[in-house]
Amino acid sequence: MLGPVILAASRSDRMRRLISAAPVTKQVVDRFIPGETVDGILPIVRQLTDNGLELTMDVVGEDITTPEQAEAARDAYLELIDRLKPLELGERAEMSVKLSMFGQALPGGHELALANVRPVVEAAAEIGTTVTLDAEDHTTLDSMFAIHEELRKDFPQTGCVIQAYLFRTEEDARRLAAAGSRVRLVKGAYKEPAEVAYQQKHEIDKAYVRILRTLMEGEGYPMIGSHDPRLIAIAQELARTAGRKLDEYEFQMLYGIRGEEHLRLAAEGHRMRVYTAYGTDWYGYFMRRLAEKPANLRFFARSMITK
Ligand code: FAD
Repeated sequence: MLGPVILAASRSDRMRRLISAAPVTKQVVDRFIPGETVDGILPIVRQLTDNGLELTMDVVGEDITTPEQAEAARDAYLELIDRLKPLELGERAEMSVKLSMFGQALPGGHELALANVRPVVEAAAEIGTTVTLDAEDHTTLDSMFAIHEELRKDFPQTGCVIQAYLFRTEEDARRLAAAGSRVRLVKGAYKEPAEVAYQQKHEIDKAYVRILRTLMEGEGYPMIGSHDPRLIAIAQELARTAGRKLDEYEFQMLYGIRGEEHLRLAAEGHRMRVYTAYGTDWYGYFMRRLAEKPANLRFFARSMITK
């Protein structure tokens, strides 16, 4: 029951101020967001890639309120890409972006987000990598898919995320499972109403399997974004049945969650990409991680009491 309460708090400015200023929070946050600056995150990039892992990099931030903040988000990604260039990682380090950080919710936001994200996609292509558009709450998705389609005209490798908890996703998956597409399937991390989304875990898991089957049997490149051991085993089975080779799909997990599983899958020869978030505006990302697992909240609460 705690999950929905924490998700509601993830959108509250008052809670944002309170939690962000709490003196001990940072230590707990580091587990999921292991750096605040590009200088801070590059050693983590090296460590992960030295261990045979790939990355998708997220500069944390969302729901910005001015066009200047959207431009700052764009520039933060451009700086990151510039600093990744000498490492010559190519597609081993791709970018994940949230369009709400690029101005999507501002007046004229669709065009603004497209204008701000395009230079990031161009810069990524110049260093041999690509960008995946994260999925946010359901009200933003038509705009996200339209921007995805527009970017793919020039950069066909641009990826997007679909969420198994939404009723619409089975249809989206059928449309997206076409040659050349890159699609990350996740369960979904936002608080969505019963009119648009499954609410029960077992319904979401069943939808995940149906959608994954569509992606695996299709012609695109499925990216399995989950830490769920059952779904990972099912994904391996579906890939085998669909006749996919190990480099024709990949697993993705979040930094700080089931790290040993990252290494195990990579050692088995799978492509394993770690979603690695960094930056100072970590509140929304951090709160969603707390909501996913009540034990995280207990750990967080204990750290505040014992300090
Ligand atoms: P769950 O059933 O939630 O978890 C399975 C097991 O994983 C748990 O039993 C636990 O052992 C472990 N686990 C899961 N979450 C945590 C946690 N926070 N802390 C500690 N252990 C945990 N959601 C979106 O809505 N949009 C996106 O664009 C998006 N991108 C994502 C990208 C990646 C690479 C991943 C892995 C997830 C992304 N998510 C995104 C989040 C996703 O929607 C889920 O909220 C999250 O992955 C938890 O679901 P699960 O599949 O891991 O299964």
